[in-house]
Amino acid sequence: MNDSNNSGDKTLTVPPTKTLSLKRPVEQGVVRQSFSHGRTKAVVVEKVKRRAHEAPKAPVAPAASAPKPAAAAPTPPAAPIQQGAPAQARPPVKPIPPRPQTGVVLRTLTDDERDARARALNDSRVREEEDRKRQEAEARARSERENRERAEREAAESRKKEEETRLQRDLEAKRRAEDEARRRLTPGAAPAAPASTEGDHGLSLTPSGNSRRPQQIVFSAPRPAAPAPSATPTPAAAEGRTTPASTAPGGAAPLGLRRTPIQPKLAVPAVKPARGAEAKSRGRLTVTTALASDGEERTRSVAAFRRRTQRLKGVVEQKERLSREVVLPETITIQELANRMSERGVDVIKLLMRQGQMHKITDVIDADTAELIASELGHTVKRVAESDVEEGLFDTPDAEENLVSRPPVVTIMGHVDHGKTSLLDAIRQANVVSGEAGGITQHIGAYQVQSPLGGKITFIDTPGHAAFTAMRARGAKVTDIVVLVVAADDGVMPQTIEAISHAKAAGVPLIVAINKIDKPDAKPERVRAELLQYEVQVESLGGDTLEVEVSAKQKTNLDKLLEAISLQAEVLNLMADPDRPAEGTVIEARLDRGRGPVATVLVQRGTLAVGNIVVAGSQWGRVRALIDDKGVNCVHAGPSFPTEILGFSGAPEAGDRVAVVESEARAREITEYRERQKRDQAAARGGSARSSLADMMSQLKTAGRKEFPLVIKGDVQGSVEAICAALEKLGTDEVAARVVHAGVGGITESDIALGEASKAAVIGFNVRAHKEAREASEKLGIEIRYYNIIYNLVDDVKAAMSGLLAPTLRETMLGNAEIREVFTITKVGKVAGCLVTDGVVERGQHVRLIRDNVVVHEGKLSTLKRFKDEVKEVASGQECGMAFENYQDMRQGDVIECYRVEEIKRSL
Ligand code: GDP
Ligand code: MG
Repeated sequence: MNDSNNSGDKTLTVPPTKTLSLKRPVEQGVVRQSFSHGRTKAVVVEKVKRRAHEAPKAPVAPAASAPKPAAAAPTPPAAPIQQGAPAQARPPVKPIPPRPQTGVVLRTLTDDERDARARALNDSRVREEEDRKRQEAEARARSERENRERAEREAAESRKKEEETRLQRDLEAKRRAEDEARRRLTPGAAPAAPASTEGDHGLSLTPSGNSRRPQQIVFSAPRPAAPAPSATPTPAAAEGRTTPASTAPGGAAPLGLRRTPIQPKLAVPAVKPARGAEAKSRGRLTVTTALASDGEERTRSVAAFRRRTQRLKGVVEQKERLSREVVLPETITIQELANRMSERGVDVIKLLMRQGQMHKITDVIDADTAELIASELGHTVKRVAESDVEEGLFDTPDAEENLVSRPPVVTIMGHVDHGKTSLLDAIRQANVVSGEAGGITQHIGAYQVQSPLGGKITFIDTPGHAAFTAMRARGAKVTDIVVLVVAADDGVMPQTIEAISHAKAAGVPLIVAINKIDKPDAKPERVRAELLQYEVQVESLGGDTLEVEVSAKQKTNLDKLLEAISLQAEVLNLMADPDRPAEGTVIEARLDRGRGPVATVLVQRGTLAVGNIVVAGSQWGRVRALIDDKGVNCVHAGPSFPTEILGFSGAPEAGDRVAVVESEARAREITEYRERQKRDQAAARGGSARSSLADMMSQLKTAGRKEFPLVIKGDVQGSVEAICAALEKLGTDEVAARVVHAGVGGITESDIALGEASKAAVIGFNVRAHKEAREASEKLGIEIRYYNIIYNLVDDVKAAMSGLLAPTLRETMLGNAEIREVFTITKVGKVAGCLVTDGVVERGQHVRLIRDNVVVHEGKLSTLKRFKDEVKEVASGQECGMAFENYQDMRQGDVIECYRVEEIKRSL
């Protein structure tokens, strides 16, 4: 509460010290305000007297001053004040044990006083009425709001009830207390009205006591101290103030004060606890409210509460579900799937769990499972294959009206050294052969020549070695016509037959060029006859296959050959649409030091132009330059035009299809997909794909197989591929070549590092090591072997691999001996005295000890003695002493078998 001196007289003061002193001009009081967290503050307040009070000033003075020291019969006005002082700090302390009421003689009021009192009374009543109404309204509003909030919260229902009952109880207690107070006061009530020394404060209360009850309820309801109100009046009475004023219930003092200007401050302590209690429900979180027992539930947010009630009800909130079209690739992670469906990952996992599949959010599931989940969650599914990125890349049909005739693409095939390159050179009138290593064409060249009949012919030269089969197959793929070169002096050879099968498989017409007719032993007729065996019937034998006898060396009949090609092309009626994005095939690719990756491409449809974005295999690039077979830069490359493309990001592989795409993004998408695919395939090959029993068997079979690791670098992709294929063929169950890395370009430091790491031999085919690589190889002791002929390379690797083969062990029987006697010799151990029955026995050789036709020991002979001398061997019919390595248990009658073990090297 607060403390103020309320006396109507200026002479009487009650300073905070509570000692009385005179002559205080202005009424002052100290109000102790209490704040949250236990802070308090003493505030000095001055009280401005109202005129109404000025009148009774004089008479009150003596009354007030008189009783103080004695605490005697006349109610000292100071007494309540004094009492108020301590109360201000701690309101609940107020209750003081009741003391017997002392009989007090009341002074009658003067008329003035009575008037003033009446006025004051009226005033206060009006004010109180207003206050009460306001507070009632407030309380009502508050409780309404609370009720509303509570209605929302099902769980709060009970609490509310409890609150209500408590309220009721408090109310009851309050009422009881008041009643009691009133009962006690009733005797003095009547006189009190007229006889307050104090004037207003005390008196004003009495009448209002009843009317104010509801207000008090509001205030005191939360206060736990039910006895407090009941106690309050008692001390008042006990103080010896017989006056009803003093008997006024606890509310009296504050009410009286409220009237004064200090009112708000004074009211604070009284109201505060009450409001505090109610404030809790509004959820302002302070330490006290947080710790308060009934505050805890209220700290929850409304959302939290809603969630809780939903959980209790077991109703899953039905969000507005959007059915989405979910794009599903072949595999998808659960996370990504959830994202695409706008669902929570846990929901997806839950669904999977329900189906008995335990998954993490990062796990990859297949499209079928994903589709199941998506449809379960009410989404539609659009399945896409990753390969869809390639859709529309190739084979879009040409527009009929745009088709124009194009030059034929001719591949020259035949057995090695039958003169393919020579023939092509003769046609091109350029001498490529002399520059070729070993006289073997190492990579496919493509050239365009003028036909004597007008128009052009595109030639693709394929190498003739068996290792190049794969490449040749590619050549046949792009080709329109195959020229089969058969040397007239050699006839049909294995690769000739191969070429025929390739051409047939590709459905390509053949033209037979019987070469080397200038040679004396040339037998073109024999060639024709031999070809019949392979279902190639030449024209001169009544067939439909064109044949031309040529000599590359003499350049005879080359025109005829070209004419034949042109004729054949006419029959084929080759057409292409030049006005469309280009499509083609990589014939070869290499890494050029100065120019970067270079791909020789045969354009098959459309026109390739500088600046186009091209995709080939897992490489893409913007065409920087187009260079034709004569080394001339060109801007366009139309159908059947062979050209070198500069600008690829890396060397594509021979046989890759080339396509022009509209944007870099598309190019990236496609190449990334292909790269991924390649990786996956590699992983699948080397990975733990142990699907079938057969696979496992084959793995078991090759489990102990020795590997010969190799790093191969070549000048062109085709050669590297051919080498890899040839080496693969060398492999057996026991030993195999393992190509750790194969690539195009010079040997670099990283190749050496790779070779060192995988203990691989480094091979350069038509390439050399960079300086750094050379130094590194010297430092690390890794040999780099250079080759320019594929046979040599393969032979060397074969020899090296043979070294890995486990040698065969061969036993050679030497002789037998029989144990006659077994001696035990100190320090030596047991020695068998034997007779060599047949053959010889040699020291250090392998022996078997046979007892009753059972081999009991196998080991080596450590000692062989004849009489006292160590001998190398003992021949048949002689006696000797023998001791074994690590074996002592010889017996009389055992047979010793002596044999030699030989290691025999094997080769592939
Ligand atoms: P390829 O391996 O099929 O490409 O054969 P080449 O073009 O490298 O020729 C192999 C060998 O045959 C070379 O030494 C040529 O000089 C020789 N040769 C090619 N054509 C003829 C020819 O018409 N007459 C003669 N006498 N020799 C030829
Ligand atoms: Mg050749």
